[in-house]
Amino acid sequence: RAKETGKARYVLYDPQTFTKPVHDVSIEAAMFEAVKNGEFLLHYQPVVDATTRQIMGFEALMRWMHPDLGLVPPIQFIPMAENNGLITLLGAWVLKAACVQIRHFEEAAGRQLYISVNVSPRQFRNDHFLETVDEAMKLSDLQGSQLLLEITEGILMSDPDHAETLLTAIAARGVRIAIDDFGTGYSSLAYLKRFPINTLKIDRTFVKDLPGSVKDAAICDVVISLASHLNLNTIAEGVEDEQQLQFLAKQGCTLIQGFLTGHPMLPDEAIAALKANSAAAFVI
Ligand code: C2E
Ligand code: MG
Ligand code: MG
Ligand code: MG
Repeated sequence: RAKETGKARYVLYDPQTFTKPVHDVSIEAAMFEAVKNGEFLLHYQPVVDATTRQIMGFEALMRWMHPDLGLVPPIQFIPMAENNGLITLLGAWVLKAACVQIRHFEEAAGRQLYISVNVSPRQFRNDHFLETVDEAMKLSDLQGSQLLLEITEGILMSDPDHAETLLTAIAARGVRIAIDDFGTGYSSLAYLKRFPINTLKIDRTFVKDLPGSVKDAAICDVVISLASHLNLNTIAEGVEDEQQLQFLAKQGCTLIQGFLTGHPMLPDEAIAALKANSAAAFVI
């Protein structure tokens, strides 16, 4: 199976690395089967410049295409994969597959793009995480600055010393770090000072009631301003309408991600979106 797909694709299942014990819970068993059967796939959501709306990159979002259940959303299987340890294997696959995929997007678009990949706590704690990052970059011949790793506040706070060591090594490779769902976790502003972070992702919960909600407007305003003073990018998540985008762009938010500017989509659709996007006349 792996042999047939050729060099353009990175295949998850490799019997030599697939050595995790199978747990006897049925859905878990199904997950391990799913790995073998290649039922996991990635969708790619465009991240656009808040002012020009040019697609700057994509976030890779994992999906499970179950033969009976259909498309299983990550909220239903990521926590389980985090518990049974399968996330380490899945996460490594996501990283490599997404890095390879973005090179194909670049080819189609004729310009440089970046790829954003979610990193789970267990993956981040795994001793081989850095090796996986290196492998993904080597496999895809991607520049460090084209890879954005999304981590959560919890990852930083649970073991700050480890986080500092690892993030410093990641930053030394030019790879960028984003705080996902910024402001929703157990967090401290001190970590913005301590760790080499590049991007704050404003969570959808602060975006969805913009611009009407005075509190959300204030929070977004302050986060964007904080980021800009610290020389960080901001990505607003879950932007669904024009008013939200206008508000965020006016406050100086750098990048926008949401259903307004593109749903998570399959690679072919992403290529079509890139072509349509470059044909559009950008207004600044
Ligand atoms: P996230 O990283 O915060 O991803 C953003 C989520 O918001 C995605 O949900 C995306 O589909 C959704 N979204 C984007 N724009 C909009 C919008 O305009 N409106 C609404 N209502 N939702 C929007 P999704 O794909 O279901 O993923 C949920 C979470 O699962 C992600 O949240 C991330 O924490 C986790 N996840 C997804 N893929 C991976 C992965 O490969 N590895 C790990 N560790 N976690 C992943
Ligand atoms: Mg994310
Ligand atoms: Mg997020
Ligand atoms: Mg979120």
